[in-house]
Amino acid sequence: MELVEADMIEECICEDVDLKDAEQELAIAQDMIKLCAEKGGVGISAPQVGIYKRMFVWMISDTQFQVVFNPRFFPDGKKIKTIEGCLSYPEEEYYLTRYKYIRGVFYSPIMVYTPVETIQIKKMTKRFSGINAIIFQHESQHVGYDNKPGRTIAQIGEILAEDKRVGVIKKKEKFKSMLEKVEI
Ligand SMILES: [Zn+2]
Repeated sequence: MELVEADMIEECICEDVDLKDAEQELAIAQDMIKLCAEKGGVGISAPQVGIYKRMFVWMISDTQFQVVFNPRFFPDGKKIKTIEGCLSYPEEEYYLTRYKYIRGVFYSPIMVYTPVETIQIKKMTKRFSGINAIIFQHESQHVGYDNKPGRTIAQIGEILAEDKRVGVIKKKEKFKSMLEKVEI
């Protein structure tokens, strides 16, 4: 699994994941988590690796990734300015405007003990703020929704001049106190 060129993800159309038959996507998600961790990112979406499905993986704690299928988000409150990077544009950083708070609606696999271990895909509705709200918006935009194409920070942001870059911030723990410097 490798990152594809950025022009392969700009305006890409992604299909919903079929939640009744997501075994293949779960295996892909595992590889995406591995690649994301290797690259030092905090999230990566399927189109970035050439898979045009509405899914992404992201770090939800210092040691844990979450798999997200068919995400949507709904703004809740005011907007903030961010500076973000993206694994698909490793040399660049962008200014963006984001919602400070969102409600994310998505599906995620969870392990269920019945007593046999099985994976079930559950619908989740969660309110996100701060860095998690920013990452969720960034990754959800990569995969679009309905017939809306995936979009990237290069399309919706304003590129920073080389001498204005804040430096690539790769680990979530480092940017808890540095909300505006995000590598996603
Ligand atoms: Zn990205």
